[in-house]
Amino acid sequence: MGGDEIKYVKDAFATNWIAPVGPLISEFEQKLSTISNNSYVLALNSGTAAIHLALILLGVKRNDVVICPSFTFSATVNPIKYLGAIPVFIDSEMQTWNMCPELLEDAIKENIKKNKKPKAIIIAHIYGMPAKLDEIIDISNKYDIPVIEDNAEGLGSTYKMQPLGTLGSLGIYSFNGNKIITTSGGGALVSRNKYFIDKGRKLSTQAREEKPYYEHLEIGYNYRLSNICAGIGLGQLRVLEQRIHKKREINQFYKKELDIFQFMNECDNSFSNFWLSTMLIDPSTTIDCESLRLHLLSDNIETRPLWKPMHLQPVFKDCKAYINGVSEDLFNRGLCLPSDTNMNQEDMNRVVEKIKEIYEI
Ligand SMILES: *Cc1c(COP(=O)(O)O)cnc(C)c1O
Repeated sequence: MGGDEIKYVKDAFATNWIAPVGPLISEFEQKLSTISNNSYVLALNSGTAAIHLALILLGVKRNDVVICPSFTFSATVNPIKYLGAIPVFIDSEMQTWNMCPELLEDAIKENIKKNKKPKAIIIAHIYGMPAKLDEIIDISNKYDIPVIEDNAEGLGSTYKMQPLGTLGSLGIYSFNGNKIITTSGGGALVSRNKYFIDKGRKLSTQAREEKPYYEHLEIGYNYRLSNICAGIGLGQLRVLEQRIHKKREINQFYKKELDIFQFMNECDNSFSNFWLSTMLIDPSTTIDCESLRLHLLSDNIETRPLWKPMHLQPVFKDCKAYINGVSEDLFNRGLCLPSDTNMNQEDMNRVVEKIKEIYEI
């Protein structure tokens, strides 16, 4: 926590707004809107819920095709399945590790030929790194297919000075406990289109009609953020800038000290929050990722493999995928290094020393 969260939480208790309604929710949305280029914002109880609503708002229904990245967390994809729609996976490109624009266009063309024009494209900005947005948005415009930005990991990252999450038709944030800022659990839906956010608000609160009694014309969801959690979020927003600065400092330190590894690189015009610092081992090295992970763990330093691609997940084995081998290679050669903003210089030195030990450098 940053320090101010408890003040907001006490305020929620003092005013007795212990519900998924209350003034702190509006204040949190207002502040999120400000850092989202004044887009409309709807605070929700998870990023997954935000993706689910985004798909509903774009009219995704049973048996519709939705394009999504393979190299991501499963929460990007699960809501497609909640709707009975069909995920089609796209592999990554090597620079940003995000969706490969060429494969995206191949997939769209092939699906249009089969009379299955995709209803939506979900992209993700993995580890906070902006995807190749110019290329992807061009393709989205060319074929008139809306983009949902899964920006669960990239709050504060920008592309051509625009905050991620605001470049597609809809964007989402996550405030889960592991993200750059947290509300313990939470998320948000973001759009420049007011209709989407108004409609999303109604769907997220059980789709109640504006009547004195309970009237329902459609199926709703219980997806609104709690006023207490919004209070935590307000405190966390105060330290967002500071955290991005620290995350980038951690990343630069690893890059400087560990030139034996390959790291993610920002494209021209893109700025990453470096939510997690990640690396790839050289393919020619005799020490594989798992040995490196265990070596660090023996000194109580936790690292984790990169996302296991969705097209390699047993649960999605029957889904169509457009593959170039990049995400599988990333999975085989990569680790997330300790990236917590509470690390001090001594902690960072300890990680680097332990890595240098196994490579005898
Ligand atoms: C965390 C995460 C989500 C899900 O967010 P929750 O708030 O945990 O539901 C979705 N996509 C990606 C890429 C994530 O990292």
